[in-house]
Amino acid sequence: MRRTAHLQFTLFAVFGLCIGAFAAEQTPVNPFALPGAWYKANLHTHTTQSDGDVDLPVRVEQYKSHGYDILAVTDHEKTSEVAPFCTEDFLLISGMETHPKSPNPSMVYHLLCINVPVGMAFEKETPMEERLKAMRDAGAYVIAAHPYWCGFTLEELLPLKEHGVSAVEVYNSTCRFNGRADSSVHWDQLLAKGWRIPAVAVDDVHGDNALRMGWTMIKAETLTLEAIMAALRAGAYYASTGPEFTDLRVEGDTVVVECSPARKIQFYAPAPNGAQVLADLAFDPAGVLDDAVERAEALEPFRCRLRAHLVDAGDVVRTVSDEREIVDHLLGVDVEFRLHARAVEYGVPQAVMDDVYAGRRPKGTPEQVLVYDVCMAMHIDHRLSRPLCESATAAFGERGLAEIMAAIGYYVLVSMTLNAFEVEVAPGTPVPFAREP
Ligand SMILES: [Zn+2]
Ligand SMILES: [Zn+2]
Repeated sequence: MRRTAHLQFTLFAVFGLCIGAFAAEQTPVNPFALPGAWYKANLHTHTTQSDGDVDLPVRVEQYKSHGYDILAVTDHEKTSEVAPFCTEDFLLISGMETHPKSPNPSMVYHLLCINVPVGMAFEKETPMEERLKAMRDAGAYVIAAHPYWCGFTLEELLPLKEHGVSAVEVYNSTCRFNGRADSSVHWDQLLAKGWRIPAVAVDDVHGDNALRMGWTMIKAETLTLEAIMAALRAGAYYASTGPEFTDLRVEGDTVVVECSPARKIQFYAPAPNGAQVLADLAFDPAGVLDDAVERAEALEPFRCRLRAHLVDAGDVVRTVSDEREIVDHLLGVDVEFRLHARAVEYGVPQAVMDDVYAGRRPKGTPEQVLVYDVCMAMHIDHRLSRPLCESATAAFGERGLAEIMAAIGYYVLVSMTLNAFEVEVAPGTPVPFAREP
């Protein structure tokens, strides 16, 4: 199922609609208008060459067996011999995460270099200029890693442009563990300063707890090193933690977004302007998203750039930030979930419980799915969209909807109380939501 949103506004003079649709020094491209295929990549990977938990063959399998096409191996200050693992349908790229000094005395830069000759290495004191020049001359593409986790200010990030850094990590799965996965504000600020920098999502995987959560979809002619590097340099990619863009285009004065089922599509124009389009998933599978036009008026004064985020149906993942964590925080009290596992005994199908544990929108009757959507909307947005409210009122009546609010409010109360006293599950009981070790 695909949904389409139409947003009307005056055509931008320079068009940089989709996430990552432009490179620093190049004419903006719209990857959806380019020929080729989409390839799924994790561009930030550690192995036992540095501080990863598994060696390269195991790491390759962890991605190859789950639908990925590309893995860039980027150990700290070390390259890996990747050629033996390349196949026709799986491309490994030699890379390195390098750490030159930054203006911030308490933090070195973390720069992700993709396509670094095997064996290239630098002394600890080698300045940034020298190392990046050597790597770029050898064909590397350089990405500023996890700026939020590093704590870099805009002042510290902007000079990276002069050093040939070409992209920024907007999402880093490993940085979830201290709440700094989402660097979208940093990205926005760089854009606001006129640096038209695209963004990637990565795992920065060191261990199992950050596997396959953030990735970059790259549009390229073929799955070869040359074609993929050309696509990176052109900015022909977008970042995702789940939702999928299938098309982004301009038709006259309308921007058309086609995507996998989405709860909302958010458009970011230069602050404070933007728009949000909400879908009513339960009773509007076509995704009419009818408040798009009125909200899009806010975009009219701006004609320079726009980026779009998708929030997917299950609220598990979204393009650049981790809404799941917010939901877990409110709902993910392990004790409650263990107790609720007993719901199976009272007739809730195990498949529904599995979906809820996994953060997926469960399959069920239209009413059950509607209840789920209402609960998720209240927990995430603290409000219901007009269509969702109308659907819920039509299905359950005002009284029924009020009872749903009472029930979820009660569970939040219980969850908060359990959280406050840090009540734990019984020893040996499986915990539904993984926590940082
Ligand atoms: Zn790092
Ligand atoms: Zn790293």
